[in-house]
Amino acid sequence: MSSWRPLRRLLTRSEMDIEASLLESAGIPTFAPDRQWFGFYASLEFGSDHGYRLYVRENDWQDARQILDERQLEIAPIYPCPACGGATRRLRRVLAIIALCILRNTFAPFPFYRRKRICLTCKTRHMPERPERFTAAETAQL
Ligand SMILES: [Zn+2]
Repeated sequence: MSSWRPLRRLLTRSEMDIEASLLESAGIPTFAPDRQWFGFYASLEFGSDHGYRLYVRENDWQDARQILDERQLEIAPIYPCPACGGATRRLRRVLAIIALCILRNTFAPFPFYRRKRICLTCKTRHMPERPERFTAAETAQL
């Protein structure tokens, strides 16, 4: 019997559930200690950088890593980098975060983001096009 080893720290519970169920379906048992915590104290999720931890057994770690890496290759980024086509993330609103930290007299990485994105591999910054507005037919289906 081997011990649990941390595998991933994910930003949202949805991502954590997807990756945990992917590993479970491959026969790898997972342990997610934060799955219930934010359910009990949902207000803590906002403004927290704690994330959702995902653990696997020590002897399954390599297999789990390989499964998740293969899955990552299959997923095309929603906002690809214009220079290299890699995955991007939104930039933080630094001034808004600093202002709120001063106002609340705390130091916490509040999740305020800009529309501008940065590439995770080549660090190119770009402003993606605004998506098309929902049509009346699309909103009526919701
Ligand atoms: Zn790039």
